[in-house]
Amino acid sequence: MKAIGLLGGTFNPVHYGHLRMAQELAEMLELSEVRFIPAAIPPLKTSPAASAEHRANMVRLAIEDNPLFQLDTRELTRKGPSYTIDTLISLREELEPETRLVLFMGTDAFRQLDKWHRWQELLNYCHIALVQRPHAIREALSKTLEAYLAAHYAEQNHELQDASSGYITMQPMTALDISSTAIRQRLQQGLSVRYLVPKNVIDYLQQHALY
Ligand code: ATP
Ligand code: MG
Repeated sequence: MKAIGLLGGTFNPVHYGHLRMAQELAEMLELSEVRFIPAAIPPLKTSPAASAEHRANMVRLAIEDNPLFQLDTRELTRKGPSYTIDTLISLREELEPETRLVLFMGTDAFRQLDKWHRWQELLNYCHIALVQRPHAIREALSKTLEAYLAAHYAEQNHELQDASSGYITMQPMTALDISSTAIRQRLQQGLSVRYLVPKNVIDYLQQHALY
């Protein structure tokens, strides 16, 4: 049965935190593919300084040497805010119904999940795999999200392997305290972002004078 990981984000710019998360979750959950899905217009953030096209191009460069990773640009061609629920619905229209879909998320993103458009429907279309984001604020989850997590938490990995959607799992990941925000700040200060971002992405953002 096919199993596909989905990593949505702003990728402003893509960095080794994203890439390592995708690699480790793909191995842990035995996925055959991971799709990187840049948001054109992130609903909960101020509009990114770099255009959607530049952000997608950087992802393309970052993943070009990994046959497991694909760039999925469907949110770039859609009008209006990039809602994940719409992306899941459109993916489901294309895939075999048994295909397992696993939406990847750092704990910082999960903390905000109850603000997402139609968030309670997400698990009808996919599983959710969480990884701890280093130094994410260790605030308690909202009561609503706490209950949601408890109701859908997969105690064992096979629950996730046996269903095409509906479960939440938390997986360990090599902690990498890298964020796009910190990368943009370093660039603005004229500092190097070597070893935080792939070399070909650094070349691209310099060529196009991004950030
Ligand atoms: P920004 O600082 O602009 O918000 P970001 O580094 O958080 O950027 P996003 O594009 O917002 O990157 O992240 C997309 C997804 O990847 C989110 O679910 C986020 O939690 C996760 N993620 C990003 N960086 C890491 C990391 N270093 N470790 C684990 N998860 C990460
Ligand atoms: Mg973020």
